[in-house]
Amino acid sequence: MENMFYKTYPIDANTWRIEDIFGDYMYLIKGQSQAALIDTGMGFRGLDDVVRSLTDKPVIVLNTHGHVDHVGANGAFENVYIHPADEALLRQHGGSAYRQECLPEFMEEIGARIPASVIEDLVHVSQPETLSYLSDGQIIDLGGRCLEVISVPGHTRGSVCFLDAANRMLFSGDMLCTMGIMLNFDCSTTVSAFLDSMEKLKAHVSCCVDAVYGGHHVAPITIDYIDKYMECGHRLLKSSAGAVAEQGVFGQFWRYFYEDISLTYTEATLK
Ligand SMILES: [Zn+2]
Repeated sequence: MENMFYKTYPIDANTWRIEDIFGDYMYLIKGQSQAALIDTGMGFRGLDDVVRSLTDKPVIVLNTHGHVDHVGANGAFENVYIHPADEALLRQHGGSAYRQECLPEFMEEIGARIPASVIEDLVHVSQPETLSYLSDGQIIDLGGRCLEVISVPGHTRGSVCFLDAANRMLFSGDMLCTMGIMLNFDCSTTVSAFLDSMEKLKAHVSCCVDAVYGGHHVAPITIDYIDKYMECGHRLLKSSAGAVAEQGVFGQFWRYFYEDISLTYTEATLK
């Protein structure tokens, strides 16, 4: 099923990528007893109907992190999981004060022509009062299909990836994708802590992943990107020469390029 805000792309018989018009990727992972929806995008209406058209199993939501463009439609579902280190971020980014401040500007930034009434809906999304928590190494059993939680602080302190080892898939949120990984937020870790997470991720998935499904841009990609980001991070820590200043919705930050990727950072995270 498609509506004006979402497109659905099958990955295999039990896995789908759902994309909202803001370019946010969500993944529906179906097991025999329940299904997991990884992230809920910016919060456009009708995500629950799209999901319902793909499965009649109970659905749990697994947030890769607490950012505004990953938790928007959480309120359409009952059972939502997040790493506790991102709970406060989720509460902020799921709340109307923050969304009122940043969403109109985001829309303008990407040149989206979205009616004011739709932006109003996006500002006033609901969030479940009670959340469930994810922890490193936790196994989420969907019935004949398991997802392992890998805690990877970096983009945010509570960022996680989900490993489906049997199907050689990794769902990486904003911690592994093309273009760049952003470490320039108040909720980001230092570049060194990000590199520790990349090292950990590499050790954990290099044996058993062919396809990495991230939160934006090109999907799937290969795990070679882990090496590329590690090289980028190590070079940046040696010297930030050549980095370019950028102005975002929340102030200035820097972008350091390596081959076809980049890392963003601030003075506070460059260590
Ligand atoms: Zn993010």
